[in-house]
Amino acid sequence: MSRERLLTKSKYINGLQCPKYLWVKLNEPDRVPRFDPSTRHGFSQGLLVGEFAKKLFPDGIDIPADDFTINLNHTEVLLKERKPLFEVGIMVDNTFSRIDILKPVSKDEWNIIEVKSSTKVKNVNIHDVSYQKYCCENYGLKIRNCFLMTVNNEYIKQADIDPAGLLTMTKITAGVDRATDGIRQRVDSMVSTIASEKCPDVTIGKQCSSPHECPLKKECWSFLPENSIFDMYGSKNHAFELFEKGIYSFKDIPDDFPLSGKREIQKSCEISGKPHIKKKRISQFLDNLKYPLYYLDFETFSGAIPLFDGTRPYQQIPFQFSLHVVDKDNATARHYSFLADGTGDPRSEFISSLKRVLGASGSIVVYNQIFEKGVLRSLATMFPEYKDWVEKMNDRIIDLLAPFRSFHYYDARQKGSASIKRVLPVLTGTSYDHLDISDGMNASLAFLDIISNSDSEEGRIKIREDLEKYCALDTEGMIWIVDKLKELTND
Ligand code: SF4
Repeated sequence: MSRERLLTKSKYINGLQCPKYLWVKLNEPDRVPRFDPSTRHGFSQGLLVGEFAKKLFPDGIDIPADDFTINLNHTEVLLKERKPLFEVGIMVDNTFSRIDILKPVSKDEWNIIEVKSSTKVKNVNIHDVSYQKYCCENYGLKIRNCFLMTVNNEYIKQADIDPAGLLTMTKITAGVDRATDGIRQRVDSMVSTIASEKCPDVTIGKQCSSPHECPLKKECWSFLPENSIFDMYGSKNHAFELFEKGIYSFKDIPDDFPLSGKREIQKSCEISGKPHIKKKRISQFLDNLKYPLYYLDFETFSGAIPLFDGTRPYQQIPFQFSLHVVDKDNATARHYSFLADGTGDPRSEFISSLKRVLGASGSIVVYNQIFEKGVLRSLATMFPEYKDWVEKMNDRIIDLLAPFRSFHYYDARQKGSASIKRVLPVLTGTSYDHLDISDGMNASLAFLDIISNSDSEEGRIKIREDLEKYCALDTEGMIWIVDKLKELTND
């Protein structure tokens, strides 16, 4: 059997999610879209964490993993050394598994240690390790315990990273034993699926998003109408219930099918083609805005390995803000911005720059206040001299998301979402599509490129320009949204 057609642990997980995905991945891999930048970033974080995990076993042996055959041969020889082994390759019949860390215990047993860049043990991790254990035992190894090593998000970096503080081990033996029940039949069934000439016919379902968003979703879900019941606000349970009855569009939902208030609004907007506008509630919201208006937006990055002293894994580090200030009704906005140079901890300069341009009175308008308020609070913890100022700023924040999340304004083109990326184009005709950086995740990844210095000077200049354009559109877009809301309430 060729290496490509072996059942590996990632393919076992794919197979548990959906036999169709497993078949396509093995038989028609060109149909599977390339991983998106965020997923690729997750993989690179996993590799970084893995390197710190190895440091916890100073007598461990790192088995070269680039060449499949060399890895298998080295594993066979090194297992006799009874030392911790990294990147162990185990192949039995048509199954193959790579084990992050295999640690010898007692005379002839081993512990499996799987390293993840996440902060919690997930069910999918248990299945992942159960497959590793199955392969090891078929190979003839005795496995005593299984552990998951995850990132401890309480760890605070001081000077060099301490791997023992950064990582935490959870014993998952009992869960793995439960997940191993019936694994032989599952493996046999997946091996037959892979060998089959015909792609399994699978109906879309909850498995398409769990445990991961399936990369084939665009293909498999393409038969649904443009605005389908799966755009329903909130939980998808109702949508699946309707789907099972053969109902795909809002307009086909029977009148006696119970829908919550927001979903009822969605349905009536779909049928009428007209937006739902609660003028009185929008006016009440607008009445709370006090000039001068400060339209503010932050961009942040985070990672499994904290970069700066005093920060934790996955802590949001602000590196950019955009601020549009409108002094009075119909006045031209003034624009201020900050974008860190990427050479060190940006937080001190970020907060001092912000304090210089945020005046002492007037509303601060943001979109999704939890985020901006959280970043400000975290800055106040790091720089206590700003604590009082931050509290005053947070008291002045008004969340422009609120009228949309409450469906005081709703248009069917929002597809059940209140995000600014959906609201701005609907209300103003301006979208983010023309921008090279068009969402927060890509902004964060682009800034990490600047930090890592992996781009040319020209590339870095382009990224900085793109970041400036993106963040500025978020704040200028909020001005346009408020103007539009005013117009609607004056009609
Ligand atoms: S989108 Fe759903 S049905 Fe299609 S392959 Fe993925 S999990 Fe299976």
